[in-house]
Amino acid sequence: MSSTHTHSKKNQSLTKNQRIVLDLLQNSGEPLKAYFILDSLKKEGLNSPLQVYRALDKLVELGKIHKIESINSFIICNNSNCASNTAFTICERCGKVKEIKNKYLKDSVSDLVKDNQLEITRYNLEFYVLCKSCKIN
Ligand SMILES: [Zn+2]
Ligand SMILES: [Zn+2]
Repeated sequence: MSSTHTHSKKNQSLTKNQRIVLDLLQNSGEPLKAYFILDSLKKEGLNSPLQVYRALDKLVELGKIHKIESINSFIICNNSNCASNTAFTICERCGKVKEIKNKYLKDSVSDLVKDNQLEITRYNLEFYVLCKSCKIN
C-alpha cells in the first residue's frame, strides 16, 4: 500500500474526451461495443473515431476501463489497481460479464511464469462460464 494518488481527485488528470468516455462506461456498467461508444459520443460532439479510440486506449492503459477482446467491448473497471492484468467471466448463455479478482489467480500466474521461465508483461483472461442464474435454469 504505497499509493501516491489522491483518490478524491483521481479523475482530475483526465482530458475532457477521456472523462466523457469514462462517464459513458461508468453510467452503463455493462460492456459496450466500440461502435456503440462511437455512436453515443457523436451526440456529445465527439465526432472523430480516432479521438475516441485514443481516449479508450489511454483509459485502458490507466486501468480505469478494460477491453474484453473476445467481444470487442469496453467495460468500467470494477476493482482498483488492476493495471493491465484483468480477468473476466462471460456467460455463454446470457452474455453477462463480470470482472473477477481472485487472489489465487495471481499466484497461479506467477507459478506459470517461474515454471516456464517466461516473463509475462500483462494478461487479459476471459473465462466462458454459465452464470449462477443460467446454471439453475
Ligand atoms: Zn479492473
Ligand atoms: Zn448467464
